[in-house]
Amino acid sequence: MRPESLFSVFKPVTALKGIGPRIAKLVERAAGLHVIDLCWHLPSAIIDRRYAPSVAEAQPGVVATMTVTIDAHSKPPNKRMPYKIHCSDDTGKMALVFFHAHADYLKKTLPEGEVRVVSGKVEKFGNEIQMTHPDHIGTADEIAQLKAVEPVYPLTTGLTLKVLGKAIRSALEMTSSLAALAEWIDPAYLAKQGWKGWREALLEAHAPEDEAALDPLSPARQRLAYDELLSNQLALAIVRLSMRRVKGRAIKGDGRLRQKVIDALPFQLTGSQETSLQEIAADMAEPMRMLRLLQGDVGSGKTVVALLAMLNAIETGGQAAIMAPTEILARQHLATIEPLARAAGIEVVLLTGREKGKNRTLILEKLLSGEVSLAIGTHALFQDDVEFKALAMAVIDEQHRFGVHQRLTLAAKGQAVDILVMTATPIPRTLMLTAYGDMDISRLPEKPPGRAAVETRVMPIERLDEVTKALKRSLDGGGRVYWVCPLVEESEVLDVAAAEDRHAFLQKFFGPKVGLVHGRMKGKEKDAAMAAFAQGEASILVATTVIEVGVDVPEATVMVIEHAERFGLAQLHQLRGRIGRGDKPSNCLLLYASPLTATAKARLKIMRETDDGFLIAEEDLKLRGAGELLGTRQSGLPEFRLADLAHHGELLATARDDAALILDRDPELESERGQALRVLLYLFEREAAVRNLRSG
Ligand code: ADP
Ligand code: MG
Repeated sequence: MRPESLFSVFKPVTALKGIGPRIAKLVERAAGLHVIDLCWHLPSAIIDRRYAPSVAEAQPGVVATMTVTIDAHSKPPNKRMPYKIHCSDDTGKMALVFFHAHADYLKKTLPEGEVRVVSGKVEKFGNEIQMTHPDHIGTADEIAQLKAVEPVYPLTTGLTLKVLGKAIRSALEMTSSLAALAEWIDPAYLAKQGWKGWREALLEAHAPEDEAALDPLSPARQRLAYDELLSNQLALAIVRLSMRRVKGRAIKGDGRLRQKVIDALPFQLTGSQETSLQEIAADMAEPMRMLRLLQGDVGSGKTVVALLAMLNAIETGGQAAIMAPTEILARQHLATIEPLARAAGIEVVLLTGREKGKNRTLILEKLLSGEVSLAIGTHALFQDDVEFKALAMAVIDEQHRFGVHQRLTLAAKGQAVDILVMTATPIPRTLMLTAYGDMDISRLPEKPPGRAAVETRVMPIERLDEVTKALKRSLDGGGRVYWVCPLVEESEVLDVAAAEDRHAFLQKFFGPKVGLVHGRMKGKEKDAAMAAFAQGEASILVATTVIEVGVDVPEATVMVIEHAERFGLAQLHQLRGRIGRGDKPSNCLLLYASPLTATAKARLKIMRETDDGFLIAEEDLKLRGAGELLGTRQSGLPEFRLADLAHHGELLATARDDAALILDRDPELESERGQALRVLLYLFEREAAVRNLRSG
């Protein structure tokens, strides 16, 4: 239960004065649903209104706060001309200028003969000093309020700074009920950093006095970032602890099945595959639960490592399951794993959303009776009616598509299931921590031998003609081509339309050998299209990003990505990983439409320069900030409001150590500081973790 002290700040934004339903929608879009979200919405810039010159001194182009006497209103002769208000002080005359003015309103706020304070940008028009649409107008005694540094917040269309600023001010006022919250940061660390209390830091972050106060490394912002990171690390550590608390079992197979598979492999395991397998086996042999991440770039050969690890569990009489994020991938795993498993005399079942009716019932029976020991599937493996006789090991492929919650659901299907999470996206170390805490990690930095290099070229879409000519040459030489179509934000329908158009265009050029696969096709159609490409019946495959992860056609040597500027680095890297899987040299063509933003330019440059996934991930982090990396929203990676991992990486490391220490001393968060930390978890909406505490 959320502590009562926090109730007020978790009210909807409509609880704030002056926020009706219409404005609320905009405020929600800009900042979030609750009062507290407005508090987390920190200024991105400032407007310094402290410059208060006389009319004669006023510098054009500068924001100024000026005290003037209103001399006369002059209505424009026609509607296209602005409404002017003539003013003066002892040193000279100036004019306030309004377009589309409401004369009544102006007469009231700027009455003739009175003194008013106006704040806005000073301009010079001919010889006249002017201020067009002052940002603020006040009476003479309001000058202190106006002559200040005003925070500027990120806005959204239709929302003005005035409205949002006011909402944020009243949200901050509501935090006064939180003034008495006990400190959750270790006092020694707090003192060493010279940080203030949580609420003071918050108020300070919203009242920047100068540009320096906007720096992520300013004390107030660091303190808030630390709070957020600590809540994240503590939550992960709690979940992990509660998983570990369930005693695991020591899994130590005799190797007989694994040996058969190794003998059947058409290749030798790489050094890093061997090392990872040793690490995994050692971990499984421990009487504790395994929670290990297998991290390896696209094509590094994770699947066979997963299979051998699963066989270890099966050798001891247990069952194992591997779960992929998409249907296509699950089927591909089946295609890879089944023949190898057969070599070891192991039956495999596939369970996805498409197994229905009798067939599904039969599969479920086999899993429940233990007749089948190896299952491959998608989310369908999570469903409540899926039961295993003795699930001992679960592999989760392409983890970033799943959330922590799903990871735990599958684990709950067996007793003390050992978990291996596989990710193809190289995740920078800093981000790793935020998503997985201090999970054990095995890496496959080495690629299987015999892979030819991929050359990447970047060119404008206007050169499409050249591209198709080059494709022709490549196809004549027996090559196979992926053609990835633009990503249209949040619209699968538009994605599909673009892909269909391109498909038609390429068919005109290359005839019927052009295939198409997209997310709106039925499962069977998709499979058929993929299979036709894999077998070479289609030599060009036009696709939306459904082919993004894992798909393996070693004969493919060309990857064309249209509107490459719309993709993130991680995604481009994933896509490019589809080629260069065989022994022929491959080409990746990144087609872009101008104009390129600076970031897009930088992304394409990195793609051209390197194919080191870890390097790309680090660069991506720098370019985008962690929040966006990997498409956080769908990914289960946390989004941070206050922390920016490009700047707060060190704080993250400290937060991780701090979280470990806290749980070591006070695993149930029962001490005084423990109680304060619980509030912190609620404040950052990590209550799921609190439920993992015994007295949660
Ligand atoms: P990913 O890590 O992207 O999941 P896969 O497991 O799909 O990579 O492996 C990519 C390809 O490399 C597959 O065709 C697989 O059979 C092959 N492969 C895996 N390990 C080796 C190896 N040691 N030597 C040669 N080829 C390998
Ligand atoms: Mg894979």
